[in-house]
Amino acid sequence: MNKKITIAIDGFSSTGKSTIAKLLSKKYNYVYVDTGAMYRAVTLYAMQKEFVGKDFLENEKLISNLEKVSLSFKFNKKLGFAEMFLNGSNVEKEIRTLEVSQLVSKVAAISQVRKKLVAEQQEMGKEGGLVMDGRDIGTVVFPNAELKLFMTASADKRATRRYKELIERGDDVNFDEILFNVQERDKIDSTREDSPLVKANDAIEFDNSDMGIEEQFERICNLVNQKLSKN
Ligand code: C5P
Repeated sequence: MNKKITIAIDGFSSTGKSTIAKLLSKKYNYVYVDTGAMYRAVTLYAMQKEFVGKDFLENEKLISNLEKVSLSFKFNKKLGFAEMFLNGSNVEKEIRTLEVSQLVSKVAAISQVRKKLVAEQQEMGKEGGLVMDGRDIGTVVFPNAELKLFMTASADKRATRRYKELIERGDDVNFDEILFNVQERDKIDSTREDSPLVKANDAIEFDNSDMGIEEQFERICNLVNQKLSKN
């Protein structure tokens, strides 16, 4: 039997990374880890404790409380993917709000937060057979991943996708604030000092502005199959 590989998917916000990752995990029977959910859950914790808000960030307070933040994923059979739990509570829905999206990149720029989450991610993926998506997976978390993908798309296309998702959930949002948030997050994520979002040298880039999910998935499966045949 083929050895199981590690698939790292990085890229800008709302480029469909998690859609592809979920499809891959189902097809290959791999574990899927959404690392953005982990940064979002830490942000939700910081919001609840009032360590972060629109105009403030209490770095030191958050850092000294990080050991109280316990994150776990639990597989939901009905949904077909693992949901995020923060200190024992299911926060899958709460972490996807625009409020969390507006604060998460500030929290994700804190080195101590990254250190904690990267260590947990490396532990989860040490056996291989894993699809992990985020911003630093191919560069920092699993620099030796057998397959690295880097997803991009125009800001307009990405904001349109995110807008539809939030409206379908029943959230009251407007398109312009979503577009602003997508661009703002990309800027903070790409320019932060610790583990900025960059394409790994050996990552394969996908611009999916005008590519449907089926075509993309087919191309990516071909890449996975090539890697598996060499393993
Ligand atoms: O993937 P998602 O859009 O849910 O990620 C939310 C935010 O979490 C990103 O904008 C980024 O600030 C942060 N993040 C990160 N490193 C990762 C995954 C997410 O900094 N590996």
